[in-house]
Amino acid sequence: MYDFNYHRPTSLDQAFEIFSNSEDASYLAGGHTLLPSMKQRLAAPTDIIDLGGISSLEGIKSESDELVIGALTNHDEVATSALVSSEIPSIAKLASNIGDAQVRNRGTIGGSIANSDPAADYPAAVLGLGARLVTNKRVIKADDFFVDMFETALEEGEILQEIKFPKPDKSAYQKLPNPASRYAVVGVFIASRNGSVRVAITGAAPSVFRAPELESRLSESFSVEAIENVTLESELMNDDMHASAAYRASLCVVMAKRAVADMLKIS
Ligand SMILES: Cc1cc2nc3c(=O)[nH]c(=O)nc-3n(C[C@H](O)[C@H](O)[C@H](O)COP(=O)(O)OP(=O)(O)OC[C@H]3O[C@@H](n4cnc5c(N)ncnc54)[C@H](O)[C@@H]3O)c2cc1C
Repeated sequence: MYDFNYHRPTSLDQAFEIFSNSEDASYLAGGHTLLPSMKQRLAAPTDIIDLGGISSLEGIKSESDELVIGALTNHDEVATSALVSSEIPSIAKLASNIGDAQVRNRGTIGGSIANSDPAADYPAAVLGLGARLVTNKRVIKADDFFVDMFETALEEGEILQEIKFPKPDKSAYQKLPNPASRYAVVGVFIASRNGSVRVAITGAAPSVFRAPELESRLSESFSVEAIENVTLESELMNDDMHASAAYRASLCVVMAKRAVADMLKIS
C-alpha cells in the first residue's frame, strides 16, 4: 500500500466538501472493490473518504409504495431483514446469494450500485424494479442511471444516499453464478406491477440492460411458454473465459423462464 489521507466525515455535506477539496479522492463504503483495486495499483486515490460515519446513509424502511434502503446497508443486512423479506422478497434472496459471508458482511448496496460492475447483482434489481436513486444532489431514475461498464450517471463527488424500490405485485431474480466469485455470469430480474412487466439483465453485456422483447411478450401473457422461442442477439453480449456470447444470449432466456416460473409459484 502507498500513502493516502484518511477522512471519516459525519455528514454528506462534509463528505462532499472533503471530496471537492482533495486532489483525487475516493469514497469508501465496504471496500470490497476499492481496496483490492488499490492493492493491485488499479486505483491510487490521494484521499479516502470513509462513508461509515454518516448515519443518514443507513437503514431500511417502508414508505407507502416504496421500500427504501440506505446506501451503506450491507448485503447481509438486506438478506436477513424481515422488512425486505416481507415487502420485496426477491431483493432479500438476491442479497443472500452475493459472494460469500465475508463479502455479504462488508459489501454495501450503495457501493455495488455506484460501482456498476457488469456482473453485479443489484443493478438488475434497481433496473428491473424501476427504482429511484437518491443522491446528495438529486433523484435519478433507474433507466437513466447505468451508463456503461463501471460508469453511472453519478457526477464527480456525487454520493448515492438511498435507493427507493417501488413495491411490485410480484418479482423474482435468477442467476447463473460464477462458481468462484458468485458474480452473475447472467442474472435476470423480472418485476410485474399493475399488469406491466420489466425485465433487467446483468452479467450478459457491458452494462445491465432491459429486454424489451421479453417485456412485451410477458405483458401480453405472463407464462413460461410466452418467452419459450425468444432469441436475444449475441452481438452485444460479453464473450470471455467464463462464457461465450452465444451461451450468454441463450442463458438470458433460460434465467428469464426460471424467474417467471418462480413468480407463478408465488401467486
Ligand atoms: C470475492 C468477492 C466476491 C463478490 N461476489 C459478488 C457477487 O456475487 N455479486 C455481486 O453483486 N457483487 C459481488 N462482489 C462485490 C461486492 O458485492 C461489493 O458490494 C462491491 O464490491 C462494492 O461494494 P462496497 O461497499 O464494497 O464498495 P467499495 O469498494 O467501498 O466502493 C466501490 C466504489 O463505489 C464508490 N462508492 C461506494 N459507496 C458509494 C456511495 N454511497 N456513493 C457514491 N459512490 C460510492 C467508491 O468510491 C468506489 O469507487 C464480490 C466482491 C468480492 C471481493
